[in-house]
Amino acid sequence: MSTPLLAVPRPYPGCVHCAGLVREWTAVTEPAAPEYDRDRANHIAGAIVAHRRQDEERAPAL
Ligand SMILES: [Zn+2]
Repeated sequence: MSTPLLAVPRPYPGCVHCAGLVREWTAVTEPAAPEYDRDRANHIAGAIVAHRRQDEERAPAL
C-alpha cells in the first residue's frame, strides 16, 4: 500500500521560502528521481500550506 500523493501545493507569490519548498516538493515527486518519496512530498506540501497561511496573515495574496 502506498500513500496517495496530494495535490500540487500553491506557494505564496514572491515568497522565497515557499519557492524553495516547492523546488524540494518537485524533486521528490519525480518518479524517475532517486529521491522520489511520496510521504516526504506530502510532508513538504503541508509545510508549504502552513507557510503560505503565515504569509497571508502578514499580507493577503493578490
Ligand atoms: Zn512562504
